[in-house]
Amino acid sequence: MRGYRADRAFDGERVVHGGALVLVEDGRIAGVEPGDAAVGCPVTHLPGTTLLPGLIDTHVHLCADSRPFALDRIPEMSADELDAVVRKSLRDQLMVGVTAVRDLGDHHFAVVDRHLGGDGPTVVAAGPPITSAGGHCWSMGGEVDGDDEARRAVRERAERGAQVIKVMASGGVMTVTTDVLVPQFSDDRLRLVVDEAHALGLPVVAHAHPVAAIEQCLDAGVDGIEHCTCIGPTGISTPPGLAERIAASGVVVGPTLGHVPGMEPPPQVQAVMKRTGMTLEARLAQVGELHRAGVPMIGGADSGIGPGKPHGILPHAVAHMVGIGMSCAEALASVTGAAAKACGLGDRTGRLRAGLDADLLVVAGDPLTDIAALQQVRLVVSRGVEVDLNG
Ligand SMILES: [Zn+2]
Repeated sequence: MRGYRADRAFDGERVVHGGALVLVEDGRIAGVEPGDAAVGCPVTHLPGTTLLPGLIDTHVHLCADSRPFALDRIPEMSADELDAVVRKSLRDQLMVGVTAVRDLGDHHFAVVDRHLGGDGPTVVAAGPPITSAGGHCWSMGGEVDGDDEARRAVRERAERGAQVIKVMASGGVMTVTTDVLVPQFSDDRLRLVVDEAHALGLPVVAHAHPVAAIEQCLDAGVDGIEHCTCIGPTGISTPPGLAERIAASGVVVGPTLGHVPGMEPPPQVQAVMKRTGMTLEARLAQVGELHRAGVPMIGGADSGIGPGKPHGILPHAVAHMVGIGMSCAEALASVTGAAAKACGLGDRTGRLRAGLDADLLVVAGDPLTDIAALQQVRLVVSRGVEVDLNG
């Protein structure tokens, strides 16, 4: 048994006043004691720090290497190269305190088939996103044409061990041959995908930008919507009542905020911004609108897709969540407790609670009053093992 003590703590849902002492044994949290508790085992106590659960990036692409056109270059990689990229992606995530990730799009089951998670972050994976013929991210291997193929695609993912179904409900910015303003599936086919997944016990997370695709997703009964941009030909705008409808539906939104500060968006994104008049300010205001309407939100960053969104960018996404009007505690919950729940990991990680995996993050300062402190990583524990932050 060993302990980790900090003067301040956040348990994944709320502030723990007086700090906490987390006891760790065999990779699990054995107990959570008050910050000043005395115990008879070795205790690591870093003064002036805050202890919280390891973070969860709910939207990553482990096959993508964070370089320009990362998604487009995946098909050119050999199996060995892909291996190295996935390993480095996980490593980069761990270094900033991310101890669990949800991969929302791999290349031909590269992540699902690797059964990752032994010593690195816990991985929940979708396999190749289900998309239309020639649709968004088609080169990942998830194209379906017709209802039978759509149904088969869901079954194949369940059989191979995917823990979530990702469906591309609209075109996407990063596949320039698709239209980000247009839905990719008929209402019926999207519903078929959702019904088939639910019958097999799998949640469905949909990529959706335009209002028409978001409404389609709500009608079809998806569990999560990623991006949820509400973008149209004249920029971003949420029609009256839509935010309230999302809030009432129970759908969890991942707005995929977060990018390297000061870095220009990639050319594909700039093209869409130019075409629609969309701005970052309008986008942040729209996410704020969703938050104020009570839409539950998680903080995944779409990590790995380019230099502006590398693996390990999540703390910046959390800062953006504060920027749109969340309290620091709400923003931290969006990448810990709430994120775990959305990923089906609520009984594994995301909280400081006895019985869960010992996934811990210790940062200097107080992220509950200054969210930038989340970037001052002092210690990361992944399933009870301290991560070598210099290695
Ligand atoms: Zn993505």
